[in-house]
Amino acid sequence: ELGNRMAERAVDVIKLLMKQGQMLKINDVIDADTAELIAVEMGHTVKRVSEADVEEGLFSAKDEDTDLSPRPPVVTIMGHVDHGKTSLLDALRNAKVVTGEAGGITQHIGAYQIEHNDNKITFIDTPGHAAFSKMRARGAKSTDIVVLVVAADDGVMPQTKEAIAHAQAAEVPIIVAINKMDKQGADPSRVRTELLNDSIVVEAMGGDVIDVEVSAKAGEGLDKLLEMILLQAEVLELQANPERTAEGIVVEAQLDRGRGPVATVLVQKGTLKTGDILVAGAEWGRVRAMLDEDGKQVKEAGPSKPVEVLGFQGTPEAGDMVAVVENEARAREIVDYRQRQIREKASVVASGARGSLEQMMNRLQETGRKEFPMVLKADVQGSAEAIVHALNELGTDEVSARILMSGVGGITESDITLAAASKAPIIGFNVRANKQAREAAQREGIELRYYNVIYDLVDDVKSAMSGLLSPEL
Ligand code: GDP
Repeated sequence: ELGNRMAERAVDVIKLLMKQGQMLKINDVIDADTAELIAVEMGHTVKRVSEADVEEGLFSAKDEDTDLSPRPPVVTIMGHVDHGKTSLLDALRNAKVVTGEAGGITQHIGAYQIEHNDNKITFIDTPGHAAFSKMRARGAKSTDIVVLVVAADDGVMPQTKEAIAHAQAAEVPIIVAINKMDKQGADPSRVRTELLNDSIVVEAMGGDVIDVEVSAKAGEGLDKLLEMILLQAEVLELQANPERTAEGIVVEAQLDRGRGPVATVLVQKGTLKTGDILVAGAEWGRVRAMLDEDGKQVKEAGPSKPVEVLGFQGTPEAGDMVAVVENEARAREIVDYRQRQIREKASVVASGARGSLEQMMNRLQETGRKEFPMVLKADVQGSAEAIVHALNELGTDEVSARILMSGVGGITESDITLAAASKAPIIGFNVRANKQAREAAQREGIELRYYNVIYDLVDDVKSAMSGLLSPEL
């Protein structure tokens, strides 16, 4: 890759590395410092950019107001279990599915679009707030309007309240659908009164929240509900630019035996086309085919349109943001970076198992040992010495830092082996672990901690050590 970027032969890069005493094969990973050294040696000019720069510009393209046109609203149905979310989704869909050509078979792809008086509405058909919140937790806004289903014979229940809280936290307007109006004992005014407790004030109570009485079972009130959704959408002035590279969100994804990874993408901006190269979270793909909710192939999908996308290399996750990029190289670069980040995070989490600072403290307390072992790697000898000195200064009669090893250079697999034997954390000062080391750390449950300010490093060790002391104080 380095050779490629410099337009040099890989063997020449390897030869130079050998001269520096590094015996490496063609796809081995080298650190940034080494790469820079080689590049300069070969007469290239190096400009260091942060790794995160690969993501730059991904979601930043702004649209001019004049490029915007109205787009259909995206609706999520929420409410207490058994109040009729699924029934309502099915009833709306059966009544109003955009008439497909003969032979279209209803598919559950995670979202569908219907038409009402020539206006389209998109429904996310995973009801409930779990999916909604999962997407929101990933920073994605998936929904314009929440339809809150409350059964007229049951009233406001715990999950109704939860759903309200989620919608309010996301600042998404609510339309209340009072369902099961066909049932004996249906009492819609009780529902309206109960909703006041959660500061949902419907129009009949003098507020501005729209409510509609419906029966999913009898198919009553559905047109009115759709009208109210469209009215609310008009107020929201939902717009997007269809004439740009697409952005969107993964609503659902799975690995299909026959078709490979399949992801339902809800397009939010631009138009997604077959042949487009896209990234979704830590996966990428080239759109091989797109299918709508009737299983029909489509060539293009504009704003608010949900489509099943075939052609991903791996399976993305629901809630992943999707962006079309200019070429495969860019897609790979972004995905490489994100996968690396995921691994690094995992190694820190996994390390909670054994050699983390906290675990260390607990174990030392149990054994009554008063030494705090660690492995230190720093970028230069000077910093290593300064840190060792500062850590030794921290020692008291009761507890002291025991530096198993301090060295210069990146964290390697052999450092992990050493640390693992003593169940010690590894501290990197201005250096990081290479890939093999990170994997080993994850396997062994060894915590890797990175610092670039000596003070922060010493301070953390100090608090860990005083934690060790505290029960005796
Ligand atoms: P969910 O858990 O909110 O998705 O609720 P479901 O859609 O699964 O509905 C729960 C039960 O209520 C089912 O037995 C439905 O047949 C019934 N149900 C849903 N809507 C209505 C309705 O409008 N009237 C009546 N009588 N029953 C309904």
